[in-house]
Amino acid sequence: MSIAGKHAVVTGGGRGIGRATADLLERRGARVSVVSRSAGVRGDVTDEEQVRKAFEECREANGPIAILVNNAGIAESAALTRTDRATWDRIIAVNLTGTFLCTREALPDMIAAGWGRIVNVASVAGLEGAPYIAAYCASKHGVVGFTKAVAAEYADKGITANVVCPGYTDTEMLGRTLANITAKTGRSERETSELLARGNPAGRIAAPEEVAEAIVALAMGAQTGLALVVPHPERSA
Ligand code: NDP
Repeated sequence: MSIAGKHAVVTGGGRGIGRATADLLERRGARVSVVSRSAGVRGDVTDEEQVRKAFEECREANGPIAILVNNAGIAESAALTRTDRATWDRIIAVNLTGTFLCTREALPDMIAAGWGRIVNVASVAGLEGAPYIAAYCASKHGVVGFTKAVAAEYADKGITANVVCPGYTDTEMLGRTLANITAKTGRSERETSELLARGNPAGRIAAPEEVAEAIVALAMGAQTGLALVVPHPERSA
């Protein structure tokens, strides 16, 4: 299915997975708006009013929103007993509430057009548990559940909702995770990286471009309600 000329909004599209996705959508002919706190149209996805204004600015530039990629996210780790309320709230606010606010803002355009594509970015931590990331894990499980609910609610309106679940991916977020684990465990960054790669689907760190490929494939397809693990365990680099 062609997405040429369609308006796609990518949250957190200034770097990492979001940037790779915005670039690929553009190469497929979409008109792309990026929303983040520091690049593209400025907006914090946790703030209802900022989301409303940012999406309005995107519409003024590129027309009604046909494709939404909820990619903006943050990750922090700590033992559960050392996870304070502010950390919990921050992670849920960006990863889960931000996804809800942006989806609610874009849906009326898609309903009016009878066509829409929503692709959310969760994580393998949205499908299974891991130590020291309870808040992140809860937020990403929430994103998976939210996506399936949206898929069910809008299945008869020409709107699909799917979620990609990447393993560790080579971005600034991974750089911060590596530095954090290295500082806490005394392991070298290389050892830590190898350890994380072994626990990843396919046994290696993913490239942002291959996560972007999965996101764009879902935006161009007709499937709905899928949770897709990336990189696929059977695909080599
Ligand atoms: P980066 O930290 O490289 O990029 C995150 C993006 O989100 C930035 O563009 C950032 O822009 C934006 N962002 C963060 N907070 C907000 C906010 N409150 N409002 C608007 N934008 C915001 O991360 P990645 O590219 O690695 O991650 C992208 C997504 O992929 C996230 O949802 C992450 O959880 C998920 N993911 C990443 C994995 C990895 O190993 N890298 C693995 C699995 C999932 P700015 O700071 O300018 O607002």
